[in-house]
Amino acid sequence: DSTSFAVRVAPLGGTGLVLVLAEDQTERRRVEAVRRDFVANISHELKTPVGALSLLAETVADASDDPEAVRRFTGRMQQEAARLTSVIQDLITLSRIQGAEPMAEPDEIEIETVVEEALDAVRMAADSKEIELIASGTEGMVVMGDEGLLVTAMRNLVANAVAYSPERTRVSVSVGSTDTTVDISVADQGIGIPQQDLERIFERFYRVDAARSRATGGTGLGLAIVKHITTHHRGEVTVWSKEGSGSTFTLRLPRPETRERRRSAERTYR
Ligand code: ADP
Repeated sequence: DSTSFAVRVAPLGGTGLVLVLAEDQTERRRVEAVRRDFVANISHELKTPVGALSLLAETVADASDDPEAVRRFTGRMQQEAARLTSVIQDLITLSRIQGAEPMAEPDEIEIETVVEEALDAVRMAADSKEIELIASGTEGMVVMGDEGLLVTAMRNLVANAVAYSPERTRVSVSVGSTDTTVDISVADQGIGIPQQDLERIFERFYRVDAARSRATGGTGLGLAIVKHITTHHRGEVTVWSKEGSGSTFTLRLPRPETRERRRSAERTYR
């Protein structure tokens, strides 16, 4: 990408001098390109299921005297409608959360509740692949934040772990803490992520394997949502992965100050 400048020339009233302003356009052009790509991606993600729906509707109309075919095609129509709903829902979540200021008045949230809700949401999918879901270290852990958003982030991580793992494997959520952070990890024994894709998977609509992502019902927005929710909580998300052996995603959130820790900090200051 070449660097480009916008040059503005302004006479300085009555002095005979001119002011020359050179503004670097490179960053602005990059931001515009990202926005254009995003809109193109959205259009594609919406057009695909709508196109499928209208084709299926035609097919159903033609097959009206074959109840078995009608049943099959309307089933597929429901799947496409569900896909459309999840893309739209993810877009709404993303537009609410990206660029939002860190929370002004967060609530005290129990990690145990967040993890249980997220695991409940993927239990059926996990059972159908005989994937074992386990959680450890959640008891008594709290963070400051928004419960609904934290459940969304956690649900996206465990849903991916289940979607990108073969049958009869294990997905484990483990929670630990340091002096200043609460760390929630989701580990799977799945297909893993190639090293060269790792730094891009948090981008909106980025997929390692688009066909596979769509087949598992993915929208390509899940990890972008996770990243923005984590940032909104003043935390960070990291990933470790090895192709063929599995991935671990970790949410690192600020640890709330306990009364004792506040008191001991005050003592140190005195
Ligand atoms: P998607 O809806 O496609 O799952 P995400 O934003 O959640 O979108 O994830 C982006 C991509 O990262 C996925 O398409 C997939 O290629 C990869 N990915 C995410 N989580 C995992 C995982 N646990 N194991 C393997 N690949 C993963």
